[in-house]
Amino acid sequence: MNVFPNAAEYLRHHRPERPILALRPHAVARAAQWFVANFPGRVLYATKANDMRPVLDMLAGAGVRSFDVASLAEIERVRAIDGAELFFMNPIKSRGAIARAYRDFGVRCFAFDSHDELGKVLAETDDADDLTLFLRIACPNTHSLIPLEGKYGASVEEAPALLLRARQHATRLGITFHVGSQAVVPAAFGEALTQVGQLIVSSGVLVDAIDIGGGFPARYPHSDPPGLDLYMEEIVRAADALAVKHNCELLCEPGRALVAESESVIVRVDARRGNALYVNDGAFGSLFDAAFSGFRFPARCVTPGREDLGGGETAYVLYGPTCDSADYLPGPFILPDAIGEGDYLEIGQVGAYGRVLGNRFNGFGDFEEITLTDEPMLSMFADTELQALDDPRSVSL
Ligand SMILES: *Cc1c(COP(=O)(O)O)cnc(C)c1O
Repeated sequence: MNVFPNAAEYLRHHRPERPILALRPHAVARAAQWFVANFPGRVLYATKANDMRPVLDMLAGAGVRSFDVASLAEIERVRAIDGAELFFMNPIKSRGAIARAYRDFGVRCFAFDSHDELGKVLAETDDADDLTLFLRIACPNTHSLIPLEGKYGASVEEAPALLLRARQHATRLGITFHVGSQAVVPAAFGEALTQVGQLIVSSGVLVDAIDIGGGFPARYPHSDPPGLDLYMEEIVRAADALAVKHNCELLCEPGRALVAESESVIVRVDARRGNALYVNDGAFGSLFDAAFSGFRFPARCVTPGREDLGGGETAYVLYGPTCDSADYLPGPFILPDAIGEGDYLEIGQVGAYGRVLGNRFNGFGDFEEITLTDEPMLSMFADTELQALDDPRSVSL
């Protein structure tokens, strides 16, 4: 890969037609090392946030070797990572996917949230005696900016019977939940863990594992969450109060928090109309969440020689390159007044749910790929020192 000290340095020698996805591998490693060092249990990576091979390699090099996968395609990507352990945590799976995951790919951990889905896992694995089964329970997503409620999860009424039935088949039995993505209040995890404790008591079923899912936040212009250390304190406190604490493994599945700050997209301004900038990536590229989830992303001018434009600032809106009027990013994106056609903008914090949500609509969707060694535009881990990686191959990106 092409490695550059920053975006402007790359642009000094290149004038790419396509938008550029810029990866900062050190940011992936630093986030992963922080989670491995500070989470009181096992850290899984939620593959859907960014399944690019260099990202998976950096995570593995930093000690994250367990992966939450939701499809056979994700299983095939992640299985290429040495020593990867796969957790098939999508609560609703096709029978064919369950059978292939178990037989061909060695998957032993499955989530379910109903009698039907549990029945499918048991049938397609021939009632195997080496299964780890996780009951996904519904929990309130009131503290998150992207609630995932309503789609999955057993209710308080359904959960005890499901747990009891799964206990009779599982070698290891677990409970899992998801508090919603970009959970900005640490208590989200404490409240859900309390709910898990109540389920254990009400069902009288002991569990061997509790997987607290993802939802850990990253930093954006519209969202400045508390430090992740406060989330860990909350989790430790709530897990300590559980009756099963001694023989129970704790797991988590961050996606966003591990990769959000590791990628920027560099776009070119092709036209300016008032405070609207027409750029060459957008809602159908790496900026889906800016169009459809109310997200704001940090932006700066990286045109060589124009990085420190004086003058005032303007609150811009962006339009992406496709002809769909939904290809509109309200932002606002705060940039110098003097931005004009031909300028390049770095838009940061798109490493989670950026490239993976892009499509080829209207003939766009191809990116240049570069590696940058400077700091992410915003960080949750700025005070964390990067440790040498255990797998030296993974540094040579
Ligand atoms: C999406 C997802 C995650 C990751 O969520 P983030 O908010 O990105 O941390 C974790 N677990 C499951 C089951 C998911 O569906």
